[in-house]
Amino acid sequence: MHDDTKCLRPPPAEGSFASLVVPVHRASTIAFESVEDYQNRRAAMYDGYSYGLYGTPTSRTLENAIAAIEDATRAMVLPSGFAAIVVTTLACTAAGRRVLFPDTAYDTVRPFAERFLGGMGIKSTYYDPMAGAAIGSMLKPDIGLVWVESPGSMTLEVQDVPAIANACRDRGIKVAADNTYATPLRCKPLALGVDVSICAVSKYVSGHSDVVMGSIAVDDEQLFRRLKDYARFMGMGVSADDASLVLRGMETMAVRLDRTELTTLRVLDAIAGHPAIEEVRHPALATNPGHEYWKRDFCGSTGLITLFLKPVAANVLAAAIESMDQFAIGASWGGTKSIVAVLDRPPLRTATATPHDGPLVRLSIGLENVEDLLASLLPALDMIAADSKLPTSSPSQKNGAAQ
Ligand SMILES: *Cc1c(COP(=O)(O)O)cnc(C)c1O
Repeated sequence: MHDDTKCLRPPPAEGSFASLVVPVHRASTIAFESVEDYQNRRAAMYDGYSYGLYGTPTSRTLENAIAAIEDATRAMVLPSGFAAIVVTTLACTAAGRRVLFPDTAYDTVRPFAERFLGGMGIKSTYYDPMAGAAIGSMLKPDIGLVWVESPGSMTLEVQDVPAIANACRDRGIKVAADNTYATPLRCKPLALGVDVSICAVSKYVSGHSDVVMGSIAVDDEQLFRRLKDYARFMGMGVSADDASLVLRGMETMAVRLDRTELTTLRVLDAIAGHPAIEEVRHPALATNPGHEYWKRDFCGSTGLITLFLKPVAANVLAAAIESMDQFAIGASWGGTKSIVAVLDRPPLRTATATPHDGPLVRLSIGLENVEDLLASLLPALDMIAADSKLPTSSPSQKNGAAQ
């Protein structure tokens, strides 16, 4: 069965009533037929139903759907994408051990590693996301877990995940992937050799900017149970209402991504060589770091574009961004509506050089008509270029065409 069909999994039948929609099964208490069943309820922790926090038919249906598109045997949902990072990190390492994160990790990772993991005696080190097999030299005996995030947050470097996974497997080190950018429809990290694939379901999977949720997928039953136990020890579960929203969003994920990808490639063409821009990042651009790994390991791209701008006055940049009526200013991404985030400088790095100093603009392309998006974006870029009085670029300076 193909992924787009898997996103439309029918609900389990309930007696003589058959809807095409998975019902919202709200529960704290789950009632048992007998005292014996009640006393054995913990055996139902991983598959059946023991308490609302640990799973309902709604959340289990969602977990099965996510496992199916991740090519995993098991998946679990958590209250946020970040919760998936926390649970995975804690379950796969221990005090006295060290976690390797890519220098481009999602931004809450750094304070989490320093203040939370550090306080528990778990050390962390950052590595060059483009290291590939060269990561081997960092795999000292104290390494408990290696994270990959491909493409990386904000700067979108695509990693050589199979090379990193191989180097770790040789030494018995677990590898976890943050697959939020690609979604399980555009990349299957478990097939690339990682042990754990996490996704911020809040982004494309739910797809409507109205739910915060995360997922973890694995194909190892023991590891799954360990991760589920850690989530339980931290009191994590998801509501049936939220699970239902995500199941609804998932039904259109394949078509949303296809449309988003097309629109995004058109936007990339339209902004190529614009004099306001120092560099455009998007995995489908031949100039993007790791483009060759994207071509090898992904089956398409999505709607995040990062622009490194030429130097521009802060007030001009703010006015230009605020003039973009089709883009909401905000964090997060992957919804139906286009979003713009602005950083006055690229995020902190400690293992590698920052690619450019100038301001960074991240666009999340939504489902609007591409002409409306360009009519909103191009004049803003012109405003920025006019301020920095930069010469108009010649066509030969254009970025590599999107593939
Ligand atoms: C948004 C995001 C997260 C965190 O997801 P939340 O559901 O917002 O907690 C983690 N990783 C990446 C790459 C993200 O973009």
